Amino acid sequence: MPKEPETGYDPSLGRKFIFVTGGVMSGLGKGITAASTGRLLSNAGFDVTAVKIDPYLNVDAGTMNPYQHGEVYVLKDGGEVDLDLGNYERFLGADMTSDHNVTTGKTYQHVIEKERGGDYLGQTVQIIPHITDDIKRRIREAAVGTDVCIVEVGGTVGDIEGMPYLEALRQFAHEEDDGDILFTHVTLVPYSKNGEQKTKPTQHSVKELRSIGLQPDILVGRCEDELDPETKEKIALFCDVPTEAVFSNPDVEDVYHVPLMVESEGLDEYVMERLDIDGEALPTAERDNRWRELVTRDRDTEVDIALVGKYDLEDAYMSVHEALKHAGIERRTEVNVQWVDSDEMLDRHENRLKGADGVVVPGGFGTRGIEGKLNAVEYCRENDVPFLGLCLGFQMAVVEHARNVLGLSGAHSAELDPETLHPVIDILPEQYEVEDMGGTMRLGAHDTDIESGSLAERVYGDTVCTERHRHRYEVNPEYIEELAGGALAFSGTADNRMEILERDDHPFFFGTQFHPEFRSRPDRASPPFVGFLEAVTGELDARDLGDQEVQA
Ligand code: GLN
Repeated sequence: MPKEPETGYDPSLGRKFIFVTGGVMSGLGKGITAASTGRLLSNAGFDVTAVKIDPYLNVDAGTMNPYQHGEVYVLKDGGEVDLDLGNYERFLGADMTSDHNVTTGKTYQHVIEKERGGDYLGQTVQIIPHITDDIKRRIREAAVGTDVCIVEVGGTVGDIEGMPYLEALRQFAHEEDDGDILFTHVTLVPYSKNGEQKTKPTQHSVKELRSIGLQPDILVGRCEDELDPETKEKIALFCDVPTEAVFSNPDVEDVYHVPLMVESEGLDEYVMERLDIDGEALPTAERDNRWRELVTRDRDTEVDIALVGKYDLEDAYMSVHEALKHAGIERRTEVNVQWVDSDEMLDRHENRLKGADGVVVPGGFGTRGIEGKLNAVEYCRENDVPFLGLCLGFQMAVVEHARNVLGLSGAHSAELDPETLHPVIDILPEQYEVEDMGGTMRLGAHDTDIESGSLAERVYGDTVCTERHRHRYEVNPEYIEELAGGALAFSGTADNRMEILERDDHPFFFGTQFHPEFRSRPDRASPPFVGFLEAVTGELDARDLGDQEVQA
């Protein structure tokens, strides 16, 4: 796990802060609203970063079930964090570190370790001031060197777990200059049966905020539609903010359109004015317009991609889904994702995949749905359907090859069948002694060397790539020679670790031990996803690669 910073900070750096809280209920998309505002500020020339606060006792998201919490997002430093950090990276176009995800577990662990070390010199160690001080330190340190830091508090105002954070923010605002901090509160504005926009829930949650000493500067109402002028006036009156400080956040078809919506509402301009940085913003005509161009691009074609997973919740594969979208932007292709439950893949699975132009088998843990994933791999291999296997999907491509091409019956990953006679995927040597589960996998960004002349080189346009990892198992070195003797090749390696596999008898059969989806951005689509879409639309066929080289 990354080391805790112990250094002091320069309070003059990281000068402006936007604190974002949520009211009424969770899941309102306040992270997306905040990230969108950040995108617009960065379009206007500011250096923007973000901190996500998760008021749970887990030290990080690494041990959490994606079924309950959505995907575990992996940062380049190996931090396993909340999926909101993925949204911040994608929207802001900036790499974050684990220091940008503050959890109760991290904060308490640090304070308790210091207490055990005798650092508090006999004091009684308490939530206020010791925990709150540690929270403030973390926010300030994450903001160092940037112009604006967005701090999003997970959960809803009033949750017991969130209290120390709101108190820390109150103190923070008290310590900083007026005008350097903006409190934004995102709430739900529901419709009544007779079609009226109701402001009572907003009023109540603002009342709750004020009872702990926080007065919001900006209110954002999540509603199916834009807020009516009367709704805005009512919210302004009862929550004690100017009417211009009330914004709508209506439903949009694509999250990438939220920055355009926020811009049309004028939220970005209002934020800049209130933080007194409008004078330093680039004139409107000179602002970075790439985002708008990317997300509103016309599409020439449309494809159906099956994503074969085990979780019933789409949030569990958020980055894979986004990476497919990014590749679609680059290739001007509309990508329709079909969610296929791997449990449905046991019987007559061909029927589930028949309509798909390409198949992705993403990462995962545990045995549920494994045979279905293997069926999906086999179907792709035998029917020349473009296939992209990620982490566990890569490992299943190895197992399928061992079983069905090499005839190693019962071959498996030792994770999924510890008794297998042919553990073609086995535990990493450094994992033998590991007992703690948190933060102990092979994590974060590592380099892969790519073989020249391979499909992988065509995909990456380079003989090296750096991608993020999160795994405990890998290709067993004892089987490498046998596995790679025929049509299958390991074209990407890191020392004796197999990182990329491909087939030369198939249009596009590509697997990666790493997770390329975590580096993918709307303006920097991930190469394996782009290559996959090229194959799906018939512009790339791995079987022609050798010929092209001969011609050249
Ligand atoms: N369960 C596999 C491993 O630990 C794959 C992990 C993943 O897909 N992220 O190696």
